[in-house]
Amino acid sequence: MKTVAIIPAAGAGRRMESGTPKQYLLLAGIPVLVRTLKAFQLSAVVDEIYLAAPEEDIPEIRRDMILKYGLSKVVLVLAGGGKRQDSVGNALSHVRDEQGIVLVHDGVRPFVSGEPIGKATAAAGECGAAVVGVPVKDTVKEADTAGRVTKTVAREGLWLTQTPQAFRREIIVAAYQRAAADGYYGTDDASLVERMGIPVRMIPGDWKNIKLTTPEDLLLGEVIAGNQFPLPI
Ligand code: C5P
Repeated sequence: MKTVAIIPAAGAGRRMESGTPKQYLLLAGIPVLVRTLKAFQLSAVVDEIYLAAPEEDIPEIRRDMILKYGLSKVVLVLAGGGKRQDSVGNALSHVRDEQGIVLVHDGVRPFVSGEPIGKATAAAGECGAAVVGVPVKDTVKEADTAGRVTKTVAREGLWLTQTPQAFRREIIVAAYQRAAADGYYGTDDASLVERMGIPVRMIPGDWKNIKLTTPEDLLLGEVIAGNQFPLPI
């Protein structure tokens, strides 16, 4: 039974304000997406990688990333869709029966390590679906549109959910099919599984596994990249 990692990296990265999609930005001289792909390349539990990318960038990604950095587990580079969920859905349609576990990981989370990849994969094998996350540290409040605080939410049991998210193939395929039939879009992959009534296990992850979303994330990213030892490349 094989494990395939789907990496959605087809976003335009508008919240970054840099003009360049965030997956192509350099951190300590190495493209964000190369860092992400390398983590899965180096993971002993990952057999194959499917990469969803902007269609017009595919030739350059093959030449300047996959070939240049020896990312031999990337066996499929396909065009992404309009939303992240469409990009993952496109990749899922290529998954085959022999692939028992499907991992999904954002292309713009370059500091993922082998540990969460391994733990999520093992947990999905045991219980069907698993995500990594970190417990909420700050106090969570709700406020109305005028900025008036309406509620303080109890923090116990709240998690900030990251990727990788890992699933047995038949579970994530069915969840994506159901979401497509219902026209439902979630903010992560596991939420599509949850709405089918299937339990998802939370695995404590790593605060360094940040998603590069807004410009200040890049400052943090430069620091994390500068302190990585051994170098991922
Ligand atoms: O926009 P956001 O930060 O949530 O994107 C998470 C990941 O999903 C990024 O790696 C981005 O490139 C990817 N994505 C995608 N297809 C889209 C939109 C986002 O593959 N249409």
